[in-house]
Amino acid sequence: MPLLERRRSVAVRVGRVAVGGSAPIVVQSMTNTDTADVEATFRQVRELARAGSEIVRVTVNTDEAASAVPRIVERLAATGIDVPIVGDFHFNGHKLLKAHPACAEALAKYRINPGNVGRGSKRDPQFAEMIQTACRYGKPVRIGVNWGSLDQELLTRMMDENSRSPEPRDALEVLREATVVSALDSATRAEELGLPHDGIVISTKVSGVQDLIAIYRTLAGRCDYPLHLGLTEAGMGSKGIVASTAALAVLLQEGIGDTIRISLTPEPGGDRTREVIVAQEILQSMGLRAFTPMVIACPGCGRTTSTYFQELAQRIQGYIRQRMPEWKQHRAGVEDMTVAVMGCVVNGPGESKHANIGISLPGTGERPVAPVYEDGEKTVTLKGERIAEEFQELVERYVERRYRPKETA
Ligand code: SF4
Repeated sequence: MPLLERRRSVAVRVGRVAVGGSAPIVVQSMTNTDTADVEATFRQVRELARAGSEIVRVTVNTDEAASAVPRIVERLAATGIDVPIVGDFHFNGHKLLKAHPACAEALAKYRINPGNVGRGSKRDPQFAEMIQTACRYGKPVRIGVNWGSLDQELLTRMMDENSRSPEPRDALEVLREATVVSALDSATRAEELGLPHDGIVISTKVSGVQDLIAIYRTLAGRCDYPLHLGLTEAGMGSKGIVASTAALAVLLQEGIGDTIRISLTPEPGGDRTREVIVAQEILQSMGLRAFTPMVIACPGCGRTTSTYFQELAQRIQGYIRQRMPEWKQHRAGVEDMTVAVMGCVVNGPGESKHANIGISLPGTGERPVAPVYEDGEKTVTLKGERIAEEFQELVERYVERRYRPKETA
C-alpha cells in the first residue's frame, strides 16, 4: 500500500514485535498509572493493547514499580495479551535493574535517557551497568534523548566549542546538534559495551515541531538504527493532536520513522487509549497502514440543517469501531474498507462510488430518500425512519459478502 520509500534501518526485535527493517511502522503508547499498582497498570496496558498499541511502556521508578513489573507481565500473559512491555528508566535504572532481575527479565526493552543516567563521574559507569544488564538478558535498548533532560555537560561543551569557533553557529543549531550527538554517542558507547547494533532504537524527542523535523532529518542521515518518533509534551486536546500530526506527517512522508508514540495529555479522567487511536489515524490517513475501516464523512453545511446527518456519521463510526474486533478476527482485509456517509447528493454519490459502501442522506428540501452505493453501483434507496439501522445492516452484510472468512483466507 505505501508509495513512500522508507529510510533503510536495521530491524530490532522487541518481544514478538519487529521495529525497523521492512516491518510496518509500530504504534506504541505509555501508561500513566502508578506501575507499583499492579491491578491498575495491568488494566490500562490491557486497554491500550486492545485499542491497538503494539508496544506499551511503563515507568520503572521505584523498587515497588520494579517488583510489580513481572507480576503485570504474568497477568497479561494469563489473559492472553502478549504485548511487549518496555521499562522507562531515569536516575536509578542501574540500581533497579540490578536489584530486580525478574523485572530485567520480564521487560521486552529498556528505555534509557542518556541525560538522566547520572551526573559527572557517575554517568559512564551507571550507563555501562544498564547496558551490561541489557546484554546479559538479551534485551534491546531505546536510547531516548529528550530535549528537557539533555546531557548538560555535553551541551555546555558544545556551546563552548561553538563560541570559540571563528564562525559560531546559532545557539538553536548547536542545541539541535547536541541532541543528535547525545543519542549517537550513547549508541556508539552501548555497542562498545557489547550491545548488538540491532539491539538499539533511537529517539530524540523535543516539543517544537520544526525542531523535531530538523533533528530527525539529521539523525536519519547519520545512522541506520530504527527511529522512534514522537513530539514530546505535545499537549492537550486538538493542540496535541495537531502538533504531533504536523511534525510526524512531514517525517513519515520522507520515509523517516519506524515506530511512533503520540504524547497527549489526557483530560482529567480522560481515556488513555486516545493516543493509540490518534497514532493509528495518522498512519492510516497517510496510507502507511490500515487498522480499521475509514468513515469518510462530509463536514455538512447549510444543506444539512438537522443534526440527523451528524448523528448518523457518529453512529456509523461507533458501529464500525464496536464491530471491528470481531470482523478483524474473522474477515481478511476488512481494515481496508471505506464507508462514506455524506450529507446530500451534491458530493454524496461521487464519494459513495469511490468508497466500498456509501450513503447520501437527503439534504434540506430534497426528497426524503437516501441512495446507497456498493462497489460503485447504486444498490438500494433507503427511506423512512429506519435509515440508520438499515444502513448498518447493509454494512454488516457487505462485510460478510466482500471479506473472506479468515480460516479459508
Ligand atoms: S455533501 Fe452536501 S451536505 Fe455535505 S458538505 Fe457537500 S453540499 Fe454540504
